[in-house]
Amino acid sequence: MLLIGNWSDPIQPEEAGGVQVLHDFISRKGCVCEFCGTQTRLSAKEPLGHFHVCRLDRQLPNEPANWVTLCCICSDLNSLDKLKGKGSFIEAPWISQGQLTNLLRLAYAVSVRPEAEWGTVGSSASAFLNAIDSTPEAWASIKWAGQVESLQFVMDRMVHPFSRGAYANSLRFRFDLDPYEDAIRYWAVALEKLAMAAQSTDEPAAESPDTI
Ligand SMILES: [Zn+2]
Repeated sequence: MLLIGNWSDPIQPEEAGGVQVLHDFISRKGCVCEFCGTQTRLSAKEPLGHFHVCRLDRQLPNEPANWVTLCCICSDLNSLDKLKGKGSFIEAPWISQGQLTNLLRLAYAVSVRPEAEWGTVGSSASAFLNAIDSTPEAWASIKWAGQVESLQFVMDRMVHPFSRGAYANSLRFRFDLDPYEDAIRYWAVALEKLAMAAQSTDEPAAESPDTI
């Protein structure tokens, strides 16, 4: 079952010609995840910054023209098997998977660095995590709470194939912190700076010409 992305599993360094080749490719792409848009930094300790290079179309050959940079969370969205034990599904058609991934990443970053200067982002993060976990009432009747393991089973039991496909479009993957904690901690410093910069631009100017 095709979930969200048709990309391949991560290309291993030996398939690409070494870690440096993958590092340089991610760098040329601006260190940006091409699915969710988040940015990483590359360091001596983490030469790939918890990003992966994958084949954009898994049917096409392994060559740079068919490569895509993805954060380690988005790269898992190419198969249900890889999502097992890493989170659950929620019904959230109002938000894209990329947007949800970014909000979750930010909320988790707040939780792993509680001493940081998060400002209003910090006070909103836990409220956000609580709010997205209310499951639809209809799920109780089909005895499903969003588990990855039983998604295929639940979809197969839906009566009309059309509604089955349409319904899958409203599901989003809500990943847990644990499987991605190392990466979240690595990204959290940069996310904190972004949160602080956003808040400082939100503050009104000390003196506006209109009020003088
Ligand atoms: Zn991503």
